[in-house]
Amino acid sequence: MTIVESLGWVGGALAGLALLRYLFHRRLHRPFSRCLDCNTPLRPASPAQLRHVPRSTLAIDPTAWYCPTCDKVLWRGSHVRRMRHTLENFARGDWVVAGH
Ligand SMILES: [Zn+2]
Repeated sequence: MTIVESLGWVGGALAGLALLRYLFHRRLHRPFSRCLDCNTPLRPASPAQLRHVPRSTLAIDPTAWYCPTCDKVLWRGSHVRRMRHTLENFARGDWVVAGH
């Protein structure tokens, strides 16, 4: 591999990393806009769907979302907190996945 070819590969890798950072930034600022499993746009949960959310969670945050494709109700839980911490790490350039 020549130096020019190496620089091309490095440039492509850097562009890929920049794109990843952009996508993670977007997720960070709109983390609940799409389902993490199927990428379908989420809808606000209806009152009937909110019955699936633990009361203790609703007492802290009455917001929840619904994925019509997965037929799932989503709310802010520990997995969402970990996702947010991981995305915040990525946004800072720290490629560290938050632990439990
Ligand atoms: Zn889904």
